[in-house]
Formats: sequence, C-alpha cells, structure tokens
Amino acid sequence: MPDAIKALVLPFLFLLIGILASTQASNIPTVWLQTFPVVVAAVFIVLLGLSWRFNKGRLILVVFALSYPALMLEVFPNLEASSFVTVALLVLFITSLVKEKGFANRFSFNRLLFIGMLVLWNVAEVKGWISFEKLDQFVLPMLDKTLKSTVLVVIEVAAIGVILIRALSFNDRFLASVLASSVALVVMHYLPLTMNQMLLILVTQGGLWAWFLLSESHRMAYRDELTGLASRRALNEDFMALPKHYAIAMVDVDHFKKFNDTYGHDMGDEVLRRVAKILAEGCYYGSVYRYGGEEFSILYRGKKVAEAQDELESIRSWIEEEKIEVIHRDSKKYVSVTASFGLAVGSDQNEGFETLKKADESLYQAKRKGRNRLIIHGVRGKSATK
Ligand code: GH3
Ligand code: MG
Ligand code: MG
Repeated sequence: MPDAIKALVLPFLFLLIGILASTQASNIPTVWLQTFPVVVAAVFIVLLGLSWRFNKGRLILVVFALSYPALMLEVFPNLEASSFVTVALLVLFITSLVKEKGFANRFSFNRLLFIGMLVLWNVAEVKGWISFEKLDQFVLPMLDKTLKSTVLVVIEVAAIGVILIRALSFNDRFLASVLASSVALVVMHYLPLTMNQMLLILVTQGGLWAWFLLSESHRMAYRDELTGLASRRALNEDFMALPKHYAIAMVDVDHFKKFNDTYGHDMGDEVLRRVAKILAEGCYYGSVYRYGGEEFSILYRGKKVAEAQDELESIRSWIEEEKIEVIHRDSKKYVSVTASFGLAVGSDQNEGFETLKKADESLYQAKRKGRNRLIIHGVRGKSATK
C-alpha cells in the first residue's frame, strides 16, 4: 500500500469509531451523557496544552474548527448548523494550506485574529446586526433554497477534494488528519445527529489529534528530519536489545566537505538525501540509521555477514553511479560522490558500541586506502574492494 494511503488509515479509523460510537449514543446512561460537554471541553483544553508544548500552532485552528459548530449550537440552539459548519470547514481548509509556524508568536496571534473575525461575522449574521438588503432583494431570489444548499455542498466537496489531493501528493500526516476532521464536520452537518452524538464524534476527533501529536513527537525523536531515516537515538535504543549474532556497518561520504564548499550546502543536503535513499532501498538485510553529519550506520541482525558484504558492495557501486545535477559557475553539469564502508561483526550482544567502534576503525582504514571501498574488521587482504 502506498505510504500516502497508509497515512489516511488511522485518521479514518478514528472517524469510523466516532461515527459507530455515535450510533450507540442512545444506549449510554444519562449520567454519562451529562458529562460529555465537560469531557469534550477537557479533551480540547488538553490538546491546546499539548500543542503549546509541542509548538504546533496549526492545532489551535484545528481545535477551534472542531469545537466551533457544537459551541455555537450550545449558544444558539434554535439555529441550523450549516453556517457554523461552513465556517469551521473553511478554517480547516485554510489550516491545510498554511505552514506550521509554531505556537506562541505573532503568526498564531494573526490566526487567532482571523478566527475572531469569522466568529464575529457569524454572530453578527445570526443576530441580524448585519443584513444584505440589496443582496437579498436582487441575488437571493435567484438562489432558491435547494440551489443555495447545492452551492454549499459544492464548496464543501471542493474543499475536501483539495485537502485530499494535497494529503496524497505530499504524503503528509497532518493533512491526512485534517482530511478526516473535515469529513467529521461534514458528517455532523448532514446526518441528523443529536448534540450527544456530535460530542461523541468530537471526543474521538480529540483522540485523533492527541495521537497525531504523540506520534509526531515520537517521529521527531527517532527520525532524522533531513533524510527520513531512523536517528542515532533509535540506533542507541536498538543496541539495548541486540541479538546474539549481528554486524554493524559504518558508511561515510567521501570528501563531502569539498563537495559542500564547491556546490553549496543545499546541494550537500540533496546528496545526503540521495545517499540515504540508496541505503534505505538497497538494504534488504540491514536497518539503516543516520549516525550524524554525512555518516550512516547499518545494523545487521542475525548471521548475515556474507549477505551484508554483498549488499554493501552493491550500495557502494550504486552511490558511485548516482548522477546528481548541479549548477556550477552558471552551467549545469552532473557529478557523483562516493562513500567508504567499514563492517564489523559483533561478538557479544552487550557490546554494540564496541562493535560500532571497530566498524569505524575499518571505515577509516578504507579512507586511508583510497576511499570508495569496503573494509571488514579483522579480515585481511580480501576486504578491499577496488
Ligand atoms: P572524508 O572523505 O575523509 O570523510 O572527508 P569529508 O570531507 O567527507 O569529511 P569531514 O569530516 O572533513 O567533513 C564532513 C562535512 O560534512 C563537514 C560538514 O560541513 C558536512 N556536513 C555535516 N552534516 C551536514 C548536513 O547535514 N548537510 C550538509 N550539507 N553538510 C553536512
Ligand atoms: Mg565524517
Ligand atoms: Mg566524509
């Protein structure tokens, strides 16, 4: 299953659970039902606290969008939800377009101001503070009620369509969750739900966003942002539970400082992404980590030294063959990089770091011998590959 589709599974599972739970609302004891508004408010307050701790300002908009229709229906119980839902959906749509800019700064302030304006507009319209007499006289007669609701549906479908396309094309987990929340809003709009049923859907939406924040913080700790590979922290933790037989490879891009100096740091970053991709795709037996800078580690679990050697040899040649387009002195050209490899076999499952050090020694031996080669620790003669 493509990753972008996989990213949609969990958000829509939360949505499905919310909808299924709402069908059971009538079986829930009244005492529990009475606590629902407090539970929903508590979940959303906790979410705001978490988004402050994780510095995720866009979540303020999400929390607002989700709670807004229910909140407004509490205040104006006699009104139909449609204009509230449209505003909430509009906020989610805009949230899906803006970049994350953090929590407590002028960007969040501007966004809160924007929300305030929308709410004011909505309240003013509901209370009749503003009216569109001219519009009512000339335009609205042309738009009968069914046409008006058709226009609303078209706007909602278009907004959700754009969010879906962006979620799939960017493979973005935030957008995937925004999509599920938008659908939740539409469900709340078109299904004839009671307030308690709406609150049940909202609780599960709160759960979805709490899950999103926790998995984001996990990703930040255990994934390297530039390459998407597992981070050094993940390697350190995997060292705590090594199998009896294992091997570790260290990989280092050759003359990378010179590459950076010649073609710029951004091109250097691109090289790291390409090398990481080759490593991730080329490693069938091993798990790849970004150790730091232009160094990567590969952990082979089990008796796989011969396979590791073959795999590393293939990866070495793929890196060498990879052509990278650069602009140098105003002309376009293709360049390539090479990498050196050190491999060491572990003799004790508690000595992961010692084995890594041995792999590092072999790596520097590979550097001394001319780079772009693999050296296996403790193996003489046949280890050099060039
Ligand atoms: P050797 O062949 O001996 O490994 O030489 P080298 O130039 O690759 O090694 P050195 O340790 O001298 O330089 C590593 C360079 O990697 C220096 C640093 O600027 C660069 N570097 C480290 N991390 C990053 C990064 O995330 N992005 C970019 N673009 N460069 C990085
Ligand atoms: Mg290095
Ligand atoms: Mg290097």
